[in-house]
Amino acid sequence: MGSLEEKETPKVHVVVVSCHAQGHINPLLQFAKHLAHVGLQVTLPVISSSSDHHYRHLPRSLTVDHVPLLPYQGAETETETETETVLALWERRKASMGVYLKELMRCHEDGSKRISCVVYDSVISWVLDIVKGFGVMGAAFFTQSCAVNSIYYSVYKHWVSVPLDKGWICVDGFPLFEALDLPSFVADQGKYPGFLQHLADEQFQRLNEADWIFANTFDALEPQEVKWMESHFPFKNIGPMLPSMYLDGRIPNDKDYGVSLFESNTSSSMKWLDSKPENSVVYVSFGSAAELGKPQMEELAEGLKLSTKSFLWVVRESELHKLPHKFIDETAEKGLVVKWCPQLQVLSHKSVGCFVTHCGWNSTLEALSLGVGLVAMAQWSDQPTNAKYVEDVWKVGKRVRMEEDGVCKREMIEVCINEVMEGEDGEEIKRNLRKWREVAKAAMDEGGSSDMNFKDFVNQLLGRT
Ligand code: UDP
Repeated sequence: MGSLEEKETPKVHVVVVSCHAQGHINPLLQFAKHLAHVGLQVTLPVISSSSDHHYRHLPRSLTVDHVPLLPYQGAETETETETETVLALWERRKASMGVYLKELMRCHEDGSKRISCVVYDSVISWVLDIVKGFGVMGAAFFTQSCAVNSIYYSVYKHWVSVPLDKGWICVDGFPLFEALDLPSFVADQGKYPGFLQHLADEQFQRLNEADWIFANTFDALEPQEVKWMESHFPFKNIGPMLPSMYLDGRIPNDKDYGVSLFESNTSSSMKWLDSKPENSVVYVSFGSAAELGKPQMEELAEGLKLSTKSFLWVVRESELHKLPHKFIDETAEKGLVVKWCPQLQVLSHKSVGCFVTHCGWNSTLEALSLGVGLVAMAQWSDQPTNAKYVEDVWKVGKRVRMEEDGVCKREMIEVCINEVMEGEDGEEIKRNLRKWREVAKAAMDEGGSSDMNFKDFVNQLLGRT
């Protein structure tokens, strides 16, 4: 998104608040960068120390592309136990973040850094109560697709009954969803107690009080879903929120998100990719949070062994113990296993020919925007719905079906990799990817749908409308 004319004028201060997860920080920080790029004061609180076994790595700098990070002590400084549920951890974080945020708002009630607006991650909607308590404007930011938001909203309104009684649900103009296409918290509530209530109820309960509602998607990607959602809320799409260099290129040097909660094996990954021929490598990653069962990990490992392709596989530290014994040594000729990598650089490397992914929403948008075909192995949360759209709607990849035991088998993994990289459907996938890449760029470029929505927001903040 481009700079507005009055770059030097405003003293508008926006605070952007994300929940502490890589897949949320990335798009929200990106949005913050866009605000800073047009001259607003923007700050983004981040937890500065973490004993969480998932997130030991800290932000590498205190300012990312003119967005100062405000480090604060999160709940992570307290000891946590292995058995603590995610929801319990969220509650602890809510408490520590709430205290911090109130203090921040109090300190900036007036003066040159008076806070005009807080953009908050929709999954921590309680932030809006604090913001409104200080008489400040609030903007909700949804980090998931419009289709997924619509499903949660339908559940919240009791327009669809879950568990499913007919085997599928139908929302006007949307593809038909079977249970396996739905967010796991909808399809299998028993397995994830409390999550549906959190995502369906809490995201929407207070939404009428928000002054703006943004979603990290773009109009042309989900036209029916956007229309449907807009008929219920004034939703505005502002995505895809990737570093500018990969799309419209208007924020100078904006090449990566800028905050990594994991330590990256950057040079070994890139050097290894440089040594491989064009379109020859399968990139495998399940994002920052998905945990594969041991049987699934073994099937995937065997599927990669069966494949004739080379692979770069991100296995986070906490997942490494599930790899088959000696797998890394036995596959050293054709594969590289790393604990984390610079995913955007990897996806845009010429040697990468396909992406085996859990279909996290950021990973999906990144693959679409960078033109890499997907092999979808959805695990939980919104991923099954994203996987359905990848295969059936946008037609940019293949979905590996789970067998009855809930595991994707090695043969199917290998077949899907081949189909995406060199099968008949692979040609169509490549054609579609070329199209989506252009459409994604156009949405973010000067005058594009997301750019216009962003500019409207900035103009309203500056009191120009
Ligand atoms: N990512 C990365 N390096 C990795 C794996 C993932 O930089 O080795 C980034 C990826 O580019 C994406 C984010 O982490 O922006 C993961 O978000 P996503 O929504 O795909 O999945 P989540 O982690 O939320 O499940």
